[in-house]
Amino acid sequence: MATVRPRGHGDMRAAARTPRRPVPKKPSNPSLKDPVGVYCRVRPLSRPDQECCIEVINETTVQIHPPDGYRIFRNGEYRETQYSFKEVFGTLVVQKKLFDVVAKPLVEDLIRGKNGLLFTYGVTGSGKTHTMTGSPGDGGLLPRCLDMIFNSIGPFQAKRFVFKLDDKNGVDVQCEVDALLERQKRDAMPVPKTPSGKRQIDPEFADMINVQDHCKVEDVDEDNVYSVFVSYIEIYNNYIYDLLEEAPFEPIKPKPPQSKILREDQNHNMYVMGCTEVEVKSTEEAFEVFWRGQKKRRIADTQLNRESSRSHSVFIIKLAQAPLDADGDNVLQEKEQITLSQLSLVDLAGSERTNRTKAEGNRLREAGNINQSLMTLRTCIEVLRENQMYGMNKMVPYRDSKLTHLFKNYFDGEGKVRMIVCVNPKAEDYEESLQVMRFAEMTQEVEVARPVDRALCGLTPGRRLRNQAFQEELSRKLEMRGGPINEETEEQSVAEMFLQSLPPLPSCELLDINDDQTLPKLIEVLEKRHKLRQMLSEEFAKNVLAFKTMLQEFDSSVVAKENYLQGKLSEKDKTIARQKTDVERLEKKIKTLEYKIEILEKTTTIYEEDKRNLQQELESKSQKLQRQASDKRRLEARLQGMVAETTMKWEKECERRVAAKQLEMQNKLWVKDEKLKQLKAIVTEPRNEKPERPSRERDREKPVQRSVSPSPVPNAPPVRLRHRRSRSAGERWVDHKPPSNLPTETVMQPHVPHAITVAAASEKALAKCDKYMLTHQELASDGEIETKLIKGDVFKTRGGGQAVQFTEIETLKQESPTGRKRRSSPSNPDPAEDATDSAWTDVETRCSVAVEMRAGSVLGPGYQHHAQPKRRKP
Ligand code: ADP
Ligand code: MG
Repeated sequence: MATVRPRGHGDMRAAARTPRRPVPKKPSNPSLKDPVGVYCRVRPLSRPDQECCIEVINETTVQIHPPDGYRIFRNGEYRETQYSFKEVFGTLVVQKKLFDVVAKPLVEDLIRGKNGLLFTYGVTGSGKTHTMTGSPGDGGLLPRCLDMIFNSIGPFQAKRFVFKLDDKNGVDVQCEVDALLERQKRDAMPVPKTPSGKRQIDPEFADMINVQDHCKVEDVDEDNVYSVFVSYIEIYNNYIYDLLEEAPFEPIKPKPPQSKILREDQNHNMYVMGCTEVEVKSTEEAFEVFWRGQKKRRIADTQLNRESSRSHSVFIIKLAQAPLDADGDNVLQEKEQITLSQLSLVDLAGSERTNRTKAEGNRLREAGNINQSLMTLRTCIEVLRENQMYGMNKMVPYRDSKLTHLFKNYFDGEGKVRMIVCVNPKAEDYEESLQVMRFAEMTQEVEVARPVDRALCGLTPGRRLRNQAFQEELSRKLEMRGGPINEETEEQSVAEMFLQSLPPLPSCELLDINDDQTLPKLIEVLEKRHKLRQMLSEEFAKNVLAFKTMLQEFDSSVVAKENYLQGKLSEKDKTIARQKTDVERLEKKIKTLEYKIEILEKTTTIYEEDKRNLQQELESKSQKLQRQASDKRRLEARLQGMVAETTMKWEKECERRVAAKQLEMQNKLWVKDEKLKQLKAIVTEPRNEKPERPSRERDREKPVQRSVSPSPVPNAPPVRLRHRRSRSAGERWVDHKPPSNLPTETVMQPHVPHAITVAAASEKALAKCDKYMLTHQELASDGEIETKLIKGDVFKTRGGGQAVQFTEIETLKQESPTGRKRRSSPSNPDPAEDATDSAWTDVETRCSVAVEMRAGSVLGPGYQHHAQPKRRKP
């Protein structure tokens, strides 16, 4: 028989994957499509007095009508709608009937290596779980499927761990030795601890698997071996959780379950990555696993305050099968001969809309998500239908939810899809049931590619049978001979059999000489015996030969097996040796690391010690610093106090000294005044004869009086006065005082009577006056302010303007008492004498010397004179 299995070119692994979809995908026959099988189950009302809105019309039709309070009249007619399905199951239909019609074909397909998907759809409380799982004492489709599978493949199951699922949605066959090792490992392992500590099925569950149906697939390929793997996942809030994952039990703070992700295998089939897949060998075991997941689901519901009706649960049954070898003894190790098929049983979340459950907050969001995945399912179905009906090529949004993404390949590739729509006929569910019906009717219009029939094995059938027949024959023969196989007894019995089969020897006594009968008879018998002997020896030789060849064959096979095992053993030995060296290396590494750790720990302690010391030092230093800072502050305060005190003292001292000096100077001034008066008297003495002395001269003398001591010599030569035009006593002055001048605090201030004081030279003022005086200030070389009174006469110019001819400069200067000595002549040690001398000399000079000065000439710095004002006359 030819193999029609798709095989990867040179890639054995690829071929060992599930045969769901050939790569590249090419539908075997595009016209061979089946619509999604949609069935409807109407559950009985919970109470007989409930109002009913759904009636089963016949085997394929239901009728739904609005409840009393909800009646819609259209054109005066009472509106009721009928929906048709592949089959409708009324309230009285039992689980078995449903199973026979809906699920049995899927199980048959599974065993023939084809995939199937069965899901229940409907609002909460409509009987989805009752249909899928069942109720106590009334097992649903799931336990019945398991029961049928094990009833069918029961005697042909492979030993545990012969098949091994990999983590890429594929399957391998392990050699007997590896499988045996794994079995031993499993047996040695303690039973994993579950929170409850026991691993028995709830009596309630045990009840459900007690199906007692004995339903089985009749034409199971007996030359194959089979293994069943189950996994159980839950999709909640668009997250996938593995319900069989063995998480370490943490009683105090249980960890929240970790969600799983979807992956696509080489054949574009979706699978849950890292999902636990348990190999099961009986219905009980499989259901125990299911119950474990169910329990976990319930715990999650209570712990995380979830609503179980809002999650989709998916129970996946995978069936691996591979043919036996030509003798029917061992599983064929060729990977391309392995077939993996799967049946997914899905109990969907309640399809009701959110407002019905009055969900709030988190629950509302969850409900939204659940509705979202069901909505996506609806959208996908709708798009599929449109694409198929109208030849469109719209993208089906499988990826929008985990639920549709997981089952994408069923709609996209090939497989059998069946849906059971559950409805509760009660009036309250009318609207939701209507929605459910509409969706279900639409789903029927979607077609899915029919799975291809594949020959599962390319070898001559009946290997297992022939082998079995041979074994039976052998045991029968042995039984016939009685007792256990014993070489001696066997030899005896063979000899007996041989003797029995010989023709009996006639009597060979010759009583009569003429007896011509006995000898010929004897000869005849002996000849017969001889012939028999020859035949037997020929047979024996033949048998010996056959036996020898058999023995040789056996020997060679034993040798081959031995060699194989030896090879394996040496391989294992090598691995062990390798691992040993690895372990040694790692141990060495551990030792060095430990040594390093020790050193590091020591270094750490040293550093810590250092750190502590440094910190202490730092603390003491900072304390010292603080102390010093406070000391400094105190010292500053004290110094400031001292400075203030000293300043005050010195200020007082200065004031005292200034006052003393002022007094002294006043006294000196008074003396000088007196002397001047005397000098004046002397000077005016001869004038007594001419009493009218020009008043101008007098006026001019005035400022000088302030600072010049009169000549102590009474008979000093008279001053040769230059002739000036006479002026009336009321001559007017322009007193020009620039505003920038500083007030000098000299005791004697220049005073000009009848003056027009101006801040800036003004022609108007000049026109009215005939004398001009500018008060000019500048900084002398000793840093004191020097005031100069620059005087001049005012003339009328020919052009009608005014011109000033400067005639004299009077210098007024203050001096510090300490600076005086410096400027005085060092040859004269007596300052008083010096003062008098200079005063005298000055007065003398002033009186006798007149310096001619050109009017309007520029006054240079050479005109500075110290110690007293000087008058220069042009
Ligand atoms: P769902 O899973 O859709 O929320 P359940 O399967 O949990 O609903 O059903 C709710 C209740 O109705 C359960 O107690 C179940 O035993 C009962 N029930 C549902 N369908 C049937 C049926 N066909 N016959 C008898 N009882 C049913
Ligand atoms: Mg349910």
